[in-house]
Amino acid sequence: MSTKTAEQRIHLLPENIVNQIAAGEVILRPASVLKELLENSIDAGAQHISIWTEEGGKTRIQVTDDGTGMSPIDARLCFERHATSKISSLQDLYRLRTKGFRGEALASIAAVAQVELFTRRPIDEVGTHIVIAFGERRLEEPVRCNPGTTIIVSQLFRQLPVRRKSLRSTPTEHRHNLQEFLRVAYPHPELAYQYFHDDVRLYHLPSQNLQERILAINPTFSPGDLLPVYEQTPLFSVQGYLLSPEKIPPDNKENYLFINRRFIRHAGIQQGIWQVFKPLLHPETRPLYWLFLEIPPNEVDINVVPSKTEARLVHEMEIRYMLASVVQKALARAFIPFPSENFPDLGKLPSLEGFSAAPVSPQAPEVKPLQEAPLFSTLPRSPSETPAMLIAGRYLILSASDEGAWVIDVWRAYQRLSYEVFLKKRPLPSQGLLFPVYLPVSPEAYSAFATWKEILASYGLQIELREGKEVVLYSLPAGLSTTLAQPLLEKLFSLSRENPDSIEAIAWDETLPRLIHSILEAQRARSFTLREAQDIAERLQQAMDPNYTPAGQPIRLFLSRDILESLFG
Ligand code: ADP
Ligand code: MG
Repeated sequence: MSTKTAEQRIHLLPENIVNQIAAGEVILRPASVLKELLENSIDAGAQHISIWTEEGGKTRIQVTDDGTGMSPIDARLCFERHATSKISSLQDLYRLRTKGFRGEALASIAAVAQVELFTRRPIDEVGTHIVIAFGERRLEEPVRCNPGTTIIVSQLFRQLPVRRKSLRSTPTEHRHNLQEFLRVAYPHPELAYQYFHDDVRLYHLPSQNLQERILAINPTFSPGDLLPVYEQTPLFSVQGYLLSPEKIPPDNKENYLFINRRFIRHAGIQQGIWQVFKPLLHPETRPLYWLFLEIPPNEVDINVVPSKTEARLVHEMEIRYMLASVVQKALARAFIPFPSENFPDLGKLPSLEGFSAAPVSPQAPEVKPLQEAPLFSTLPRSPSETPAMLIAGRYLILSASDEGAWVIDVWRAYQRLSYEVFLKKRPLPSQGLLFPVYLPVSPEAYSAFATWKEILASYGLQIELREGKEVVLYSLPAGLSTTLAQPLLEKLFSLSRENPDSIEAIAWDETLPRLIHSILEAQRARSFTLREAQDIAERLQQAMDPNYTPAGQPIRLFLSRDILESLFG
């Protein structure tokens, strides 16, 4: 530097060099670029995300989303170091809901590659087109483009020959890209994705639930191979699936642990889960699971490494043991016999009473656990006495006797039960949503929700209002499928527009079941696992009307001897 004198040998590095150094930590290979771009698209509220890579991302990575887009000013700023719209104070770090917060990804990528940005907010008429290469702006102009954002990254590491050479073969880099993709595709099944590599479409995933997403990505698994996990403890809640041990590929190395919907590597927790599976697997085989832990954000620190894939937990040991026990319970429920001497030594575990009941995140309301079953009970439920058969994931054949058999249309039974949930005596017990649902709302709808808040809570629907523009749904009444959360919130939103001033006049006892019914009527029949079907059949026995759906369609039929005889002529 020319301004240096003998007294001053220390100087601040030019920004471009700072960014290149930072990029060394954040951007290791094409997959790191892909991860950062995908996280930004999700943070921007995208519903559809498309990905194109060429040569394993070594020559080109493109991510296109239909999220919020950026104003011309933000588009210019987003490449600055520490430029972020996601946090503005240190406290925000402890109530983080976005994936990004460090504000360095785009600056880092732009320091080591060429980045082309097209972005437009829906309210703007024209968008912004910016090209920036190796820290230098090459172009900035208004452009006609779709609302949302497209970012194209090319020539990665062109100016860093050592890094460039350290890139592996196209198939290897491609594999890393796919891995990063799956790590965001699983935790956001509600988003639709397309993935093209060298112009071949590898994935085309519609908006779906977690089970459907797992099956779409792994077409060789069937619903019965996925053992559900659900538990709420004072320290965390967990939801997800374990792959049935006999289905685990022997060379499996990958597993999916998410904390607050962020993919995390946590050796302690993963080891704990592996221990439970060990007696059931080949010694080298790792279990395969998709587990989503929700931990109050103020008890997790994810600012450990720049890639944000590691976490420090305040209650690490407790969570590790409790989670192992939850997994063990889920396996036991699947009736897999396994030797009890291999259970973790539960006698040595801290007792649950010893834990202080953790405050859930500052804004999140307290939510009652769904199942009251004690956490450490490991006894398998005895298999149901009556042999049952499920046809097409929908028709359950039950209680065969000399007189005939019951056939239950499980989808219709499910409609009936969902409809009746809101007819029970209030207050209804609620079930926390692992993935709270967010809905941006107009000011009028916002005030409608504010007046409804208490009454909805008595129906097991706990909502919070944020910043005058967003409603968050945290729980549903127990017994209602979590896939109904989003559409229900949307229905309530349209209700708020239909009845802006007669809010007090709404007869909730009728309205809520009606909303659920209209949601289910509009949906395609879903298919069930045998266990789900049996569970629904059991609950149907308590239904107010087990015979007909709210629309009057029959739910169950008795296939009597007479009918069979007449069928066979
Ligand atoms: P961070 O995600 O940590 O905030 P980034 O460097 O990844 O930092 O992004 C900087 C900012 O650019 C983000 O905070 C966001 O405001 C904006 N941004 C980046 N990608 C997108 C996108 N796909 N859609 C809308 N805004 C985006
Ligand atoms: Mg980011």
